[in-house]
Amino acid sequence: MKPFHQPPHQMPHSADAPSKSMASQFAVRRGDECANCGLCKRVCIYGVHERLEEDPRFMAPPKQEMCRGCLRCVMECPRNAITVVPNADSDVENIILFEASTGKVPVSGAGYGGRFGGYGFDGIWLDMSEIVRPTRDGIHGREYISTVVEIGRFPPYLKFGDGEVEKSMEELFTIEVPFPILFREVSAMDSVVECILEATSKLGTYMIVSEDTYDAYPSYRDNMLVEVDVESGMMDEQRTITRVEVRSGIEELVYKLFKNGCAIVHLTARGDGRSYDGKFAGDIVESVHDYLMSKGVREVASIVFSGGILKAEHVPKSLILGADAVAIDKPLLIALEYADCLSSDLSIDWGVQRIINLMCSWRDQLLEVLGAMGMRDVRRIRGEKGRAMFMRDLENEFIQNCGFEVHENDDGT
Ligand code: SF4
Ligand code: SF4
Repeated sequence: MKPFHQPPHQMPHSADAPSKSMASQFAVRRGDECANCGLCKRVCIYGVHERLEEDPRFMAPPKQEMCRGCLRCVMECPRNAITVVPNADSDVENIILFEASTGKVPVSGAGYGGRFGGYGFDGIWLDMSEIVRPTRDGIHGREYISTVVEIGRFPPYLKFGDGEVEKSMEELFTIEVPFPILFREVSAMDSVVECILEATSKLGTYMIVSEDTYDAYPSYRDNMLVEVDVESGMMDEQRTITRVEVRSGIEELVYKLFKNGCAIVHLTARGDGRSYDGKFAGDIVESVHDYLMSKGVREVASIVFSGGILKAEHVPKSLILGADAVAIDKPLLIALEYADCLSSDLSIDWGVQRIINLMCSWRDQLLEVLGAMGMRDVRRIRGEKGRAMFMRDLENEFIQNCGFEVHENDDGT
């Protein structure tokens, strides 16, 4: 393997890059039963239902971002053709849109109105006990907190001969990333991919790409890692990252990859954060990390985890479960308002700034969490499960102590 080292990277500054829209709070659908009578246009006072400009005989697709969920159109439609349901993702999408617009940390103010526990990442609570210590003020300058992570292949031990280190880090493939977030390649038009690549290069992070994309964008190769499937046998090539789907029982496979020279394993889950056999993917990442620790090989290579990472808080939680870094794709597309971009021109400058803003916000939130934990280096939280509380453990403790029964819902809560 050839060496590859990047110097520490200066984070670019955030700047205003306003959103063009807000995420819809309701999903409004008009079915095939619609007779184009236009009654819904008359009854909706928010202008969601309009006729097609180019052919007024037909109704236009609903402007669902304007819907207030009053259900009047649903009640009045003579064909029962309309459904209006809450858009469960709208809160997350609006947070990402805010972060991408401003680069700031979203503040919800006093009085949290949501649930305090739930499935997946929502069942993990970070230990912020140091937040009350007045001497801790890392975010605002009195203490330096590092968000830099190194990923790649590391020597299991150093060998000395004639007073010199025989096998040094220089022989191994390692990269330094200024914050533990990589980008995944997205299926979108070229300008969206270019936007993300340009932001990747400015931020000093890396994009996980296919070989075709690596060949198609030679000027961005310094910030690319080529993803290869675990079956391809190319795992020890420089700049490759080996993809393994997250499912139960992959511990031994990842162990063999670590033993056989792999530099970076990409554990990739489904977009909803579940494994390919339906479990919370984070539990399997945790199990892989524990297995590698028990075998004494955890430090020789790195784990990047992707799948269902939509909020800044999911980054430290993934690291605590055992990942060295995470990779994201959907938040990038939301930041670029990709649904709009596909039908209109995407300004590259605007898009690059939106992604920089998103990462500035997520990095600041990571600093907030590290400061509140009393940690000065993000690398120290990898696999540090003592720095979080897990709802599953607390529930088990509760059941044992009180003798209550707990039933699991369909959604895993
Ligand atoms: S009221 Fe119902 S049938 Fe009439 S245009 Fe609207 S959706 Fe179609
Ligand atoms: S639910 Fe109310 S606001 Fe939404 S489209 Fe129907 S009439 Fe308009």
